[in-house]
Amino acid sequence: MRLLLIGGGGREHALAWKLTREEPDLELIAAPGNPGIAELGECVPLNVLDVDGLEGLARERRVDLTVVGPEAPLEAGIVDRFRAAGLPIFGPTKAAAQIETSKAFAKQLLLDEGIPTARAEIHTRVAAAKAAARRFGAPVVVKASGLAAGKGVIVCKTVGDADTAIDEILEGNRFGPAGAEVLVEEFMAGEEVSVFAITDGRHFVVLPSLQDHKRLLANDLGPNTGGMGAYLPVQLGYDADHALRSDPDSADRLALQAARDIFAPTLRALHARGRNFTGLLYAGLMLTRDGPKVVEFNCRFGDPETQALMPVLDIAPRLLDLMLAVGRGDPLPGLPVPDAAGAISPHGSSRISTAEADAACVTTVLAAANYPDTPRTGDVITLPPAEDGLYVFHAGTARDAEGRLVTAGGRVLAVSAVAPSVELAQARSLEYAERVRFDGKQYRSDIGWREIARQSGPTGAGASRD
Ligand code: AMP
Repeated sequence: MRLLLIGGGGREHALAWKLTREEPDLELIAAPGNPGIAELGECVPLNVLDVDGLEGLARERRVDLTVVGPEAPLEAGIVDRFRAAGLPIFGPTKAAAQIETSKAFAKQLLLDEGIPTARAEIHTRVAAAKAAARRFGAPVVVKASGLAAGKGVIVCKTVGDADTAIDEILEGNRFGPAGAEVLVEEFMAGEEVSVFAITDGRHFVVLPSLQDHKRLLANDLGPNTGGMGAYLPVQLGYDADHALRSDPDSADRLALQAARDIFAPTLRALHARGRNFTGLLYAGLMLTRDGPKVVEFNCRFGDPETQALMPVLDIAPRLLDLMLAVGRGDPLPGLPVPDAAGAISPHGSSRISTAEADAACVTTVLAAANYPDTPRTGDVITLPPAEDGLYVFHAGTARDAEGRLVTAGGRVLAVSAVAPSVELAQARSLEYAERVRFDGKQYRSDIGWREIARQSGPTGAGASRD
């Protein structure tokens, strides 16, 4: 079997690792790939937005399946193009991808369907947006509707801050066309989790939940980034008083709740609007006192969550078989067929996969000097020898003219360690991360801190620094 993987980051290296491990005979082609992926397959230097070039490559090499990593080619309509050409591809169409690429579309769908999310208003005019911010009251969240590389969300402590954010987005053109519309949104307090579902649009498999770490520095300080680390399991649940507490069985329960309250109605609503969603639907959830609420959707695997999930994902049928079925337009294998009306029943057609028994994984991201502003490239990287249970996924790396491994992007490497507990996994990931050498290396030493605090606290209730 020949598979084309589009993308060249840590997420794609982790997917490449998992898929080639499931199917050792898999012939992997990546575009553009990276030096880590190059150890697992062939890398072709095509840009992820070169849809013509990618379609030509898929045809020429007769690939059996194309898997799309990043959101940009999905927004550009790569799935529509491949489908029209009869080429199997894993990912949503341009219209379905709007669940991520248009926050206004996603919010309207959630509000129309009564799917739990923060109250919000969508505006294109400054005065109306500012009036909305006053109605909600501080703290309030202002968001550019379109894709803004994870930077389009501003959590405002005061109404004055919201005014500034609204001016900058609608009039100052801070995010370009992505800021033609703004969302003014109620602030939600709580912990966040990321939950992924693989779906053919009707049936879905929910994967184990994770937490990521967006701030650059330990103790959740410093600027927001694409993500400095992630971990699982997240052993968090609600008690009878609707308070969050440590709960060793909660991963499955949270996933079940997300399946019933979030994924099933969202997929049904997309289907009903003629935007059947195929591929990977990622729900960023806030665990509020009123239950899980949607913060955002993404239309593809998360980065760096994927680097933490793949080493411990225990799934049957295999990830490759699920992706193949979705890519070919077949129903997901191993799930019941829908009822006569074609309905998605909340539980009947969803399944919760598990992580390997007793396995935790902590991923520490190593970022380049000056990340996230203007990351420096070209610093020479020295990697310690490989270890069992330790996975080094390449994100922003390249080979220089002399064949040396050098930094080539903001997030350079993701170091994922598997161990029996989050605490042990953190220690292993950190120990290796410390020994990786390149000038200007930045990383957090506290990935997974919430879970570790929960495990050591009496009820886990103290696991908050907010
Ligand atoms: P998004 O790109 O929509 O995921 O937003 C980025 C981050 O902003 C989220 O991960 C949250 O930490 C924060 N955020 C977004 N919306 C809200 C909200 N309504 N209340 C509190 N925090 C939010």
